[in-house]
Amino acid sequence: MIKTDIIIIGAGPVGLFTVFEAGLLKLKCHLIDSLAEPGGQCSEIYPKKPIYDIPGHPSILAGDLVKNLMEQIKPFKPGFTLGEAASKIEKSEDNQFVVTTKLGTKHMAPVVAIAGGLGVFIPRKPPITNLLDYENKGVAYIVKDPEIYRNKKIVISGGGDSALDWALFFANNFSSKVTLIHRSQSFRAHLDSVQQAMNMAEKEKINLMLDSEVIGLDGYNKLEKITVKNKSHEEIVIETDYWLPLFGLTPKLGPIANWGLEIEKNAIVVNNATDYSTNIDGIYAIGDVNTYPGKLKLILCGFHEATIMTQAAFKKIHPNKKNVLKYTTVSGVNGFD
Ligand SMILES: Cc1cc2nc3c(=O)[nH]c(=O)nc-3n(C[C@H](O)[C@H](O)[C@H](O)COP(=O)(O)OP(=O)(O)OC[C@H]3O[C@@H](n4cnc5c(N)ncnc54)[C@H](O)[C@@H]3O)c2cc1C
Repeated sequence: MIKTDIIIIGAGPVGLFTVFEAGLLKLKCHLIDSLAEPGGQCSEIYPKKPIYDIPGHPSILAGDLVKNLMEQIKPFKPGFTLGEAASKIEKSEDNQFVVTTKLGTKHMAPVVAIAGGLGVFIPRKPPITNLLDYENKGVAYIVKDPEIYRNKKIVISGGGDSALDWALFFANNFSSKVTLIHRSQSFRAHLDSVQQAMNMAEKEKINLMLDSEVIGLDGYNKLEKITVKNKSHEEIVIETDYWLPLFGLTPKLGPIANWGLEIEKNAIVVNNATDYSTNIDGIYAIGDVNTYPGKLKLILCGFHEATIMTQAAFKKIHPNKKNVLKYTTVSGVNGFD
């Protein structure tokens, strides 16, 4: 049994920053995340994209923001249970929460902070029979490290921002041979990106195939060829190193949805007038996972919520102790031994 002051479910940017704010109040944290790495959406979906609205950072790559947060929380020695989804919550005899993961790891604390973001991300997969054979052998649903695609043959499928952004990125920045396949003539992406893709197709910098979809994958031990079918039922075979079907990720709140919390549109209802508490005493919800009137799903809003929430957690854990807010310029950062 792992014992701590605050169990944080979700090691995205908001969960990570909670460790810092809790640490200033001498509260220990343990984070649980179903992903193998901390960073949530920043690490999983867009590590190499610059974010422009983190206060004090005119521009910072999402991956670097996570790196900095990890550095910032180091003095407070948080515990991590990674690659395991929190699946069950119970109350112990002495009124503590016990959170158990799918793999059976148990955690105990008087306070739980749910920072589960949009939940567990599940990619929308195309219905191709041998798809699983090529996952991580040429087929990927998320671009984690763009470098691996440098100077390669890449086929991207999809009509949304993600598909267009990456097609443009690879064609503009790497001398990769990019084919963009979309099953209709109209895109859901920003008009500007669509126009850029059309211009690049005219200059033959992107091979654009509309009214078409990938129907087959082939290759020995790794992806080597794909078969594309168009509206006229012609089948075209394309040699490729990678296929990125970027049809979007469906977030699922998952097991948390069955914990008796008040849920509205896949998010946990919290009291934003006070401390981001949920309808269950001792459980708080912060970051993208919560909802309240005027909610904005932004990192800086999640940081604010984490700060307010940790003050409430302190009062809950130490009802008889007085906490006077101290500026870090005065208190400094006194880490844990
Ligand atoms: C492409 C893109 C660009 C963006 N650009 C910006 C931007 O410019 N500025 C900005 O402010 N915001 C931006 N955002 C939004 C921003 O990423 C989110 O607001 C932020 O990630 C929310 O942080 P979080 O910690 O609340 O949740 P998340 O980052 O979603 O992290 C939640 C974590 O909880 C984990 N989790 C969920 N359920 C469980 C469970 N049951 N057990 C264990 N782990 C669980 C997940 O695996 C995940 O790692 C962007 C988002 C996307 C997708």
